[in-house]
Amino acid sequence: MSSQQKIAVIGAGLGGAAAAALLQKAGFQVDLYEQSPSFSRLGAGIHMGPNVLKIFRQIGIEKPLEAMASHPDFWFSRDADTGDYLSRIPLGQFARREYGAAYVTVHRGDLQALQMTAIKPESIHFGKCLQSVEDSGSEVLLRFTDGSETRVDIVIGADGINSKLREHLLGPEAPSYSGWVAHRALIRGEQLAKYNLNFEDCVKWWSEDRHLMVYYTTGKRDEYYYVSGVPHPAWDFQGSFVPSSREEMYEAFANYHPVVQALIESSEQVTKWPLLNRKPLPLWSEGRIVLLGDACHPMKPHMAQGAAMAIEDAAMLTRCLQETGLNDYSTAFKLYESNRKERASRVQAVSNANTFLRTQEDPAWVYGYDLYSHPLKSENAA
Ligand code: FAD
Repeated sequence: MSSQQKIAVIGAGLGGAAAAALLQKAGFQVDLYEQSPSFSRLGAGIHMGPNVLKIFRQIGIEKPLEAMASHPDFWFSRDADTGDYLSRIPLGQFARREYGAAYVTVHRGDLQALQMTAIKPESIHFGKCLQSVEDSGSEVLLRFTDGSETRVDIVIGADGINSKLREHLLGPEAPSYSGWVAHRALIRGEQLAKYNLNFEDCVKWWSEDRHLMVYYTTGKRDEYYYVSGVPHPAWDFQGSFVPSSREEMYEAFANYHPVVQALIESSEQVTKWPLLNRKPLPLWSEGRIVLLGDACHPMKPHMAQGAAMAIEDAAMLTRCLQETGLNDYSTAFKLYESNRKERASRVQAVSNANTFLRTQEDPAWVYGYDLYSHPLKSENAA
């Protein structure tokens, strides 16, 4: 590989950060461009399963993540009304033994900050919002809204559900509203001390048409988090979320278990997020441009695997570029799609259906997956 060859990753979300770190580790020259002016502790809770921790092992951040995160022994699914257990999915030591790594829950911002430490600081460029792209066939010209531009050999679009690079390849099209929203709140651990209730490490409360997923975001259990899935009529969403309230939560979860009522009572700030979606894309790459993560296959978040798929994409794309070399990026992109499409599409479908772990089932196909030991399928096998 020539030292002159350059890769641009657009978007420093969890997928883009993983791509930049893994490609740099593999010896590629990579720059990461992010529209936000600086890093901030964005988002709230996130699950990271053993399928992702095995990738973080390669990046060198598995142990620090384990040190900061919460380690649930089970994913419980419970009936919202009676409290009965619908499933008890073993994690903890079982996950380490059976799936080859830990299962953790953490704050998304803390995870992202950790991921950024694995990227060469001089290669991270904040305040760079991609405005336009020109692929001449021999290089790609990227123009940013601040008037700057750069020329690179290939571009990785990790720029999320409203991806500029997806738009460049496939034309403008707003994501579709799924008909569901997610209410989200972080609760200080000390708020819960007054209740004589058991706040479990990782539990999803279910009723017929809605749910509430609840878990800790730190190993110290000083931050508890919930995220709902609730049917909601469409409205003109401006921005990625709007304020919600305890009153709206009480109404949406009126018949739910006392544990859930206590959580609502303890919520200081609730936000409401439209859950957006796209149909599977007809292509994942064209010319010198390739997509990953939500830019490529966004999904409703009910399986807690959206970011995991973005990170797996990053790892597989790196593996394919290592296999072919950057000069043969075209073969690498085809190989990448062949080795990702089936799995990402399956996860997208199950996540959208919101059935995962509602009843006792074996999640080994998700958590046991080891991207590095999986033999590469040929590029024609998609
Ligand atoms: P993003 O995280 O969206 O990152 C895209 C980045 O690109 C952003 O930083 C953005 O600022 C930047 N960008 C956008 N446009 C430009 C531009 N023009 N120029 C430069 N930069 C740009 N997933 C899990 O794995 N586990 C979970 O528990 C989980 N819970 C979730 C809960 C909710 C309520 C939601 C909505 C999602 C959840 N997900 C979860 C899904 C997960 O958040 C996404 O799938 C994941 O963040 C996608 O990562 P990404 O890197 O592809 O995109």
